[in-house]
Formats: sequence, C-alpha cells, structure tokens
Amino acid sequence: MHFLKVFQSNAENRPLRAVLNFAHKCAMNCQWCYVPFGAPPASEHEVALIVSRIADLGFKWLTVGGGDPFQYSFIPRILRYAKSRGLFVHVDTHTKSLHQSQSNLELVSDAIDLLGLPLDGSGSRVHDHMRGSEGHFDLVCRRIEWLSSLRSHIKINTIVSLRNAHDVVDLARFVSSFAPARWSIYQYWPIGPAARVSDNHALSDSKFLECIEEVSGIIATRKLILEINSRESRRDTYPIVHHDGEVFVHASAPHDKFISIGSIFAPNALASICSACIAERHQAKSRYLMQTTRLIPPQSEANLSVKGTPNDTR
Ligand code: SF4
Repeated sequence: MHFLKVFQSNAENRPLRAVLNFAHKCAMNCQWCYVPFGAPPASEHEVALIVSRIADLGFKWLTVGGGDPFQYSFIPRILRYAKSRGLFVHVDTHTKSLHQSQSNLELVSDAIDLLGLPLDGSGSRVHDHMRGSEGHFDLVCRRIEWLSSLRSHIKINTIVSLRNAHDVVDLARFVSSFAPARWSIYQYWPIGPAARVSDNHALSDSKFLECIEEVSGIIATRKLILEINSRESRRDTYPIVHHDGEVFVHASAPHDKFISIGSIFAPNALASICSACIAERHQAKSRYLMQTTRLIPPQSEANLSVKGTPNDTR
C-alpha cells in the first residue's frame, strides 16, 4: 500500500512535457536565446526516433523549437508522426521559414495543437530591436493575419526585458486586438548563452510584476488567456532534448547553466529525467489541456513510419 502511494505520487510529479530543440543553427540571432547552436545538422530518421522514444517514455506533450523547426523540409512528417503517437504538439517558430502555403495551413490545422509566434513589441521599432531583425515585426503580423482562421491554435510569446518593458501596455492592446488563444509572457532569464546579455536585458522581479499588473488590467475584460512566466518558474519543469538525442536539464550549480544527463536512448533515461525534473508548472499546464478548433479536416494517417516502432495512435 505504501509502495503504491509512493509510485502514484512519483507518477503525478513526473514531467509530462519534453522540449525538442534543433541546435544546429537559426536564421535569427536573438541576443537572449538560450540555445547553444553549433551541433551538426538534424537528420529526419534520428529526429523521428527521438519523437518515438519521447512517446514511449510516457511524455504527453511535445514542444518543438530551438533553431526554427520549419527550416527542415522534413518537419511536416515529424509533426504528423508525433501527432499520430498521441502527443500534444506545440511548435515555436520565428515564422521566417513558415511559408504561407495551403499545405502549411493544413499542417497547422492537422498536426499542430499550439503554434507559438513571437511578438516582443507593439510595433517594428521595439520588436525589431528586440529581435535584431529589421522587418521581422511586419513578417509576424502577416503570418498572424494568414493564420486568422486558426486563432485557437495560436499562442503569442513575448520576452519582457529591460529593453521593451516600457512597451508592454501597447503590446497588450495589440495582442488583444487579434485574440490568439493564449499570450505567454516570459521574464528575460539569464541562463545558458542568454546569460551573456544580462547587463542589457535583466529586469528586476518587481519591475516585471509591475508590467504584469498593467497588462492584466488591459486584458481583464477580453477573451484572452494570459500566461505569466517569471524567470525561475521555468526551472526543472522539462527536459530539453537536442536533435541528436542528448538530454539537457537546468543545472543546480552553476545556476545559470544547463547540464547534460546523457542520451534519450539510454536505458535509464526516464529515471535520469525524473530525478532532475518535476511536473509542469501550473502556469503552463493549461496550454496542454486546451481544445483547439480544427477548421480543415485532419489527414487520416500520418505518413511516416519509424523502423522498429509501430506507427500507432495512443
Ligand atoms: S528565433 Fe528562437 S531559436 Fe532562433 S535565435 Fe531567436 S530565440 Fe533562439
């Protein structure tokens, strides 16, 4: 009986989300990016095996990000395969490689439960400065318009730092005007490679809370879920799996680093992950319990099978 209780408690506290990052390269160069780029290019076969392994280990929610996933022509097959394995598929993109085609519209509708798009300012002056990319604000706005029939799939991601905190009220009005399913606000977190720009971006906790209070007042009357992520709230709540299968978690010391805990394919991978990560933070949990509206009929079958793993739906 005692053993059963301990087992149930561990099952409740285990992480259910895995983050799959493409750590080869990214077309953007955001100063505060936490991904350590430089790994060899991704291979479709290896990425498919990683997704399969993540599903086999009992993860329910998959976040795909890092260097933009859409830089790879094989990504639609991977996302459809992840969906066919019963995973909730969340993809973060900078949108440059997400071209406005009918096939991509169907991909978002069929295989992506939640699509994260970046907005760090209410106009090009602040956003493009934050992202270090001229014209990026206009591009993201075009993508938002193009995806207007799939608003229930759209999550806006905003990093709030010393550089754009003054603009969050205007940004709140702008985000409210097109009503995505969710707006996730992240306090700049000096961790991994992002730590090197702490002098430029670090925002005190009290200033961040001030921003949140102002934003909350604006969106309180609108149908928009606001998700607040203070910097340390994210710690230990998910493993990060690079596209070569290496698993990273937040290190307890040094506090601003990631630490490798080995391969996702190692026999003890789940035990290692569960010893380093806990359950999803409450702010983010409701993302993965939401229902999305499918306006385009889903494809009947994912067309990717992985050698040695059945292409089943769970
Ligand atoms: S778009 Fe995302 S992955 Fe690419 S550099 Fe910026 S934060 Fe990093």
